[in-house]
Amino acid sequence: PEGRLASPWAADFPILARPVRKRRLSYLDNGATTQKPRAVIQAMEAFYEQSNANIHRGVHWLSQHATDLYEQARERVGTLLNTPDSQDVIFTRGTTESINLVAQTWGQSLQPGDEILVTGMEHHSNIVPWQLLCERTGAVLRHARITDTGELDLDDFRAQLNPRTRLVGLAHVSNALGTVNPVADLVRLAHEAGALVLVDGAQAVAHAPVDVQALDCDFYAFSGHKLYGPTGIGALYVRGSILASLPPWQGGGDMIRTVSFEGSTWASGPQRFEAGTPNIGGSIALGAAIDYVLSIGLDRIAAHEAALLDDATERMRELPGVRLIGTARHKAGILSFLVDGIHPHDLGTILDTEGVAIRAGHHCAMPLMSHFGIPGTARASFALYNDGRDIDALVAGVRKAQKLFGV
Ligand code: PMP
Repeated sequence: PEGRLASPWAADFPILARPVRKRRLSYLDNGATTQKPRAVIQAMEAFYEQSNANIHRGVHWLSQHATDLYEQARERVGTLLNTPDSQDVIFTRGTTESINLVAQTWGQSLQPGDEILVTGMEHHSNIVPWQLLCERTGAVLRHARITDTGELDLDDFRAQLNPRTRLVGLAHVSNALGTVNPVADLVRLAHEAGALVLVDGAQAVAHAPVDVQALDCDFYAFSGHKLYGPTGIGALYVRGSILASLPPWQGGGDMIRTVSFEGSTWASGPQRFEAGTPNIGGSIALGAAIDYVLSIGLDRIAAHEAALLDDATERMRELPGVRLIGTARHKAGILSFLVDGIHPHDLGTILDTEGVAIRAGHHCAMPLMSHFGIPGTARASFALYNDGRDIDALVAGVRKAQKLFGV
């Protein structure tokens, strides 16, 4: 690790050693997905080399061994989120599936006229499942406004909460702006109004410690691949008392207690929501990713990323013609911006020729982009392996683009 804001952890990530477009790779698309440390890659390989078998039904040793590893991974998720019990953790394919699970199980109890409240900064995956649910049940989807700094308008949030509000869905951290929402305060307000709260933690879990008991939320969803784990695996925390009463959603093997043609009965605990053979290797590798971040410490990771974000924000502010989108006081890991006279996609393409990977577009948050009256932004998003050189490359790339475009 070299120079300013050096990362002692970059060497753990083999992919960062490969050149891209004959340049040193500056990977600043971590909001989309993170790279994987050797420990995660090795855990995946070790599972298939040493431990592969189907879980929960085998009488043989290897099946028991794979089951133990899978259940240990569930305990790792419980530790990461500080759940009261690891049996409150359901494995899913990721945040999107976690939210759809809640919409399809808990959502069965909705009545016409009931309300779901989300915020104006949600990812489509915390909007569309609720729209589909409202279409099925006659419930109504509302959203609380956000301010010009990209923060939730608390007055509007309070005003929208009412006795018909059954559930509030909100991002812990906005993927498009990096705004950190005051989740514990919002949960208190929602509970006072009698609503449950689902937190979309996709952009939070890799960037700061998360404690579902301190937040007091009812559901917490996240994706493994944004936490240095594999794609196709994620989790949903459900408050134990709620989980016990949720009906199943997908039917099949593993989620039942008994099946007959007269009717079936359901397994208890998280298994009721894990029909079929799950992503066993992915769960175990997610467990390895959790061990990895916890061994470093999420407070240390948060401090490193805050220093990167401060530095990048300051340097981008100094560039003429650059407009930052989302200037909340409390932000995590994400810098969204526009450059006068250059479309974000063109900017992204030019940065790519310099080995700088960013994202350009609406970031699956079209209502948020409409709020700002823009079609999209360029977004640099940080992870623990980024350092000052990545910011230097980003700033130099933006200046190069400005020169090329004559702006
Ligand atoms: N919510 C937020 C805030 C996200 O950033 C993302 C991923 N971009 C998602 C939900 C969806 O996550 P996934 O695609 O892993 O299900």
